Amino acid sequence: MIPVPQAISIVREVTHSLGAESVSIAEVMGRILAEDIIADSDLPPFDRAQMDGYAVRAADVARVPARLRIAGESAAGAGWHHEMKPGEAVRIMTGAPVPAGADAVQQVELTREVDSGAVVEILEPVEAGRSIVKQAAEIKAGAAVLRAGEDINAAMFATLASFGYAQVKVGRRPRVAVMATGSELVDVDRKPGKDQIRDSNNYTIAAYASLAGAIVERWPLAGDDTEELKRQVKQAVETSDVLITSGGVSMGVYDFMKPALKELGAEIFFERVALRPGKPTVFARLGNTLVFGLPGNPVSVAVTFSLFVRAALRKMQGAKQPGLIEETAVLARAVKGSGERESYLPAILRTDERGILLAEPLKWGGSSDFVAFARATALVNVAAGVGFLESGSIVKIVRLPNSH
Ligand code: AMP
Ligand code: MG
Repeated sequence: MIPVPQAISIVREVTHSLGAESVSIAEVMGRILAEDIIADSDLPPFDRAQMDGYAVRAADVARVPARLRIAGESAAGAGWHHEMKPGEAVRIMTGAPVPAGADAVQQVELTREVDSGAVVEILEPVEAGRSIVKQAAEIKAGAAVLRAGEDINAAMFATLASFGYAQVKVGRRPRVAVMATGSELVDVDRKPGKDQIRDSNNYTIAAYASLAGAIVERWPLAGDDTEELKRQVKQAVETSDVLITSGGVSMGVYDFMKPALKELGAEIFFERVALRPGKPTVFARLGNTLVFGLPGNPVSVAVTFSLFVRAALRKMQGAKQPGLIEETAVLARAVKGSGERESYLPAILRTDERGILLAEPLKWGGSSDFVAFARATALVNVAAGVGFLESGSIVKIVRLPNSH
């Protein structure tokens, strides 16, 4: 049995990037950048007016009211490209280029046009530089504005588009085969017979895997039979970067996943982790395909996927931060730890009146209680050897990657 942090670092060491592909900007939401994004122009690209008003020389309007001849107009997309002379003003709109010769923009509210638009009276002085964003004040051409390995989120699209990234290099998505095992399983569209239950793990794993960026293919349910498992596993690894199975890794008489993997010649990196829930998690490699043998309990599946599999899928796409980010919260209810294993207990996060983040561990009947788990938003970490944590304790948590 190995500690959780060791299992996570083994997963990271064994997993390699799948390389990059070029994808249309319209399709890269949620993908991982595989190139630095470089500004191809200054930002702003020219001295830009920040207000509607008049471009002036500050010196001309030191004493007010100042009468200036209106020499022209500079609009967004249609600038006035002449030298503005002393005693002149140029009518200007937000986003338009400031003409040469002007050093400030006075906002329109502090001006008045007279002589049928030939002259403007500036009613208040304005200091040099006011309401002008100088060329390159925000970003200089050539600067790296986003970095390879970052997750592409909605806020990044203005940057990608503004610097001309019609195509973006992103990490290739891993092809994931999902295979539930267990002779008791029937598919969701069937009424379970005597001693049977519906498979849920395939759907849970497919949901988490696609949230992690994978392309998911579901395999037929496999019974508890070493030869059947070997046959299906052998086929599945041929067309996938990662195979994720559930069930059949415990110590029961019919738990045949490990023997099947071993007989196929898989390299087993670990097969027991000091984790609750999720102790019998297997991590192996068969050919070039990584194999995660997750336990069968639906809640164990969610926990072990979140801790181990997600990091592998994201590292394959080149993520700089493949794992879940640890945060702290205040425990809203006492929890029990487990002797030799580290716990990751499903919990609901909320903030109290003072804005403090609270983690309320679910009341659950064990690791098969997926109905309670349906409301979970985080996992509370309880270190190995800790017998009991009081309500009010500061705890480490990770948020469950339930949604984008
Ligand atoms: P196992 O890890 O095979 O011993 O399974 C542990 C528990 O999880 C048993 O109660 C199984 O019936 C249940 N289980 C296994 N696979 C699935 C699945 N695909 N969907 C729902 N429950 C499952
Ligand atoms: Mg089983």
